[in-house]
Amino acid sequence: MVSGPTGKELVNAGVKAAVDEACLPVKVFIGHCLALRTQCDYLLVPRLVSINKKDYICPKFMGLPEMTKQAVGKQPVLIWKSEKNCGLGSPQALPLALRQGFSARRIKKGLQKAEAAFRTYHRLLQQGLFPEEAENVLFGGTCRDREEKKRLIGLIGHPYCLYDPSINLGTIGLIQRYGFKVLAPEFFTPRQIEEELQVLAKPLFWTLSQRIFGTFRLLCKQRVEGIIYLSAFACGPEALIGELIKKEAKAIGLPLLQLDLDEHSGEAGLVTRIEAFIDLLQRKRRLSCV
Ligand code: SF4
Repeated sequence: MVSGPTGKELVNAGVKAAVDEACLPVKVFIGHCLALRTQCDYLLVPRLVSINKKDYICPKFMGLPEMTKQAVGKQPVLIWKSEKNCGLGSPQALPLALRQGFSARRIKKGLQKAEAAFRTYHRLLQQGLFPEEAENVLFGGTCRDREEKKRLIGLIGHPYCLYDPSINLGTIGLIQRYGFKVLAPEFFTPRQIEEELQVLAKPLFWTLSQRIFGTFRLLCKQRVEGIIYLSAFACGPEALIGELIKKEAKAIGLPLLQLDLDEHSGEAGLVTRIEAFIDLLQRKRRLSCV
């Protein structure tokens, strides 16, 4: 069973059930679990700790299974964790209940197929397709030719903030309506991002912060007119990375708009700030042409 799109009701349920310190994405996640609660026998919650050597996913991700258990009450929660010498892409890593009735060979084949689809999806994004176009191609559809838009705007943030229109209140669509092409972290390869991190005196501890910082530097090289940073209110790792990015953007004179998203974010306020930012980019452009 897959939960539906994020909606106001789902967010409100997640906000009520989650601990106060949780960020908006965690509250949304819990809202989705609550929506699924009555429709399935088990909830499978991955415990993501580290996906790359020596760096980590944030503590709230690590505590997600416990927070979910506390929120959903009696519903059994299966925790999917990476075991020693056994990655997430291995049949042994799946909880026992899920493995029942399926041979290891069949599970392995399924996981390989899923991984191949995931890689193709990212390759399509790196070729410049937008997520919905890439999904369409992945499921056998075609992609219409897009006229190349010259004006570029960068969008950075954690993937759930960038791609869930209920969290960001449709930011991507709004920017596109102003004729900009949006460049996001998924448009770059992990290797490109890793190369950009070499400038740091000390490595960044958090995986998602690395992606944001590396993408920020790549966007600067792509000569974007400005960058919009969608951050989640109450996100620990972003408190640090946000300051680092603000400092760098100021040093090179690149317009940066940081929007903190939480359950109180209103569409009108967000749209006004984005429109004002685009207005500023337009004025800056006109001045540079004089
Ligand atoms: S990285 Fe930040 S936004 Fe994402 S789950 Fe952790 S605290 Fe929340």
